Amino acid sequence: MLTAIVGINWGDEGKGRMVDLLSEEQDIIVRYQGGNNAGHTVINERGKFVLNLLPSGILRPDKVNVMGNGMVVDVEHLAKETARLREAGVAISPDNLKISDRAVICFPYNVKQDCLEEDRLGDKRFGSTRRGIAPIYADKYMKKAVRMGDLLQPEYLRARLETVLDWKNLCLSAYGAGNEYTVESMLEWLEKYGAQFKPYVCDTGAYLTEAAEQGKRIMFEAQLGALRDIDFGIYPYTSSSNTVSAYAPVGAGVPNLKIDKTVGIMKAYSTCVGEGPFTAEMFGQEAHELREAGGEYGAATGRPRRVGGFDVVASKYGCRVQAADEIALTKLDILDGLDEITVVDSYEIDGETVTEFPMGERLNRAKPHVVKFKGWKKSTCACRKFEELPAEAQAYVEYIEKAVGVYVKYVSVGAERESIIVR
Ligand code: GDP
Repeated sequence: MLTAIVGINWGDEGKGRMVDLLSEEQDIIVRYQGGNNAGHTVINERGKFVLNLLPSGILRPDKVNVMGNGMVVDVEHLAKETARLREAGVAISPDNLKISDRAVICFPYNVKQDCLEEDRLGDKRFGSTRRGIAPIYADKYMKKAVRMGDLLQPEYLRARLETVLDWKNLCLSAYGAGNEYTVESMLEWLEKYGAQFKPYVCDTGAYLTEAAEQGKRIMFEAQLGALRDIDFGIYPYTSSSNTVSAYAPVGAGVPNLKIDKTVGIMKAYSTCVGEGPFTAEMFGQEAHELREAGGEYGAATGRPRRVGGFDVVASKYGCRVQAADEIALTKLDILDGLDEITVVDSYEIDGETVTEFPMGERLNRAKPHVVKFKGWKKSTCACRKFEELPAEAQAYVEYIEKAVGVYVKYVSVGAERESIIVR
């Protein structure tokens, strides 16, 4: 059984929390794209954990975690993330963590390039997390990346680095940066942070194929939501990889396998980090209240997130491109204190009503059409059955379900594992 857990919106939907919950019934948890540019926050009995690179299953001792070939791995960050978790008592070994030999390494020069470019862009910047993600994905497609498996072949590794650095320093020199990245300094960096992961590197495709044949339950965990997908998101304000579930088998190393079920994680309101079109955006006091209630600050960067009402147009599109079979609606409890709940049910572009999510410049011009729902003004945190929710909250969930056309199977009413309604 292969299940994908993906974001329907702009990311930060609470995927980490749902993966943590749903991973209980899984054997293997796989990350298939992205790097340390986003974070999952998981709260369990041992405390609060922010995971940037490691799959969320790492917090459960009996699960195997896989970092797939679709990922970009900053080994310095990975070394620090694993050290932090070990300090908190989390066991990490090649038994419960496998890293694809084809996963690409994100180097300090990629981080540097990311920062130089954002600075150069000034007002026109993308709102990059400055973790080197766009440059390393670009390197990958330029065929100028070094992969985790290369760590196991020292002579080949050195030759690859020579080729890559010749070119990379040429690129960096255009920004006035010096030739600070030498083959020796990068080998030293790899020795310091990357070498410890050599025992974890393997052909994850072969591992997962065998596991699937044995009937193991495999879960694919996405980072960032549908609207950040490089092809289907709000390009160019997207991530640099495919976040959609259809990419999961490719990014995990198993294009030979098919996903049985996709669970879409969708937030009861909207949030968006960084720049780019965000039609449902709220401003002023209304935004401040929602941001504070929801604790909407970036897990990886601490940046305040832009907030807005639930966006039917964007969410319905998100459900479509994610091929969502069922929905987990998160953070419903954040709306508990509001007098009125704001929903964007359609867009208006040049005087026309639009219900299909537009792309590019048309999206920039879209104006929200807002409808208001009566708030329930009661805590939902203790509700464990759908019928226990206040009538207005039930009506809100049912409205959303109908609007996006996908069954809301889970309603999350708190960050803790047990704060969930399963319908
Ligand atoms: P992710 O990247 O999609 O995992 O999203 P975030 O890192 O932004 O995590 C969402 C935050 O909201 C985390 O702090 C979660 O613990 C928290 N959270 C998730 N679901 C709920 C919920 O239903 N209610 C509340 N109050 N908090 C939640």
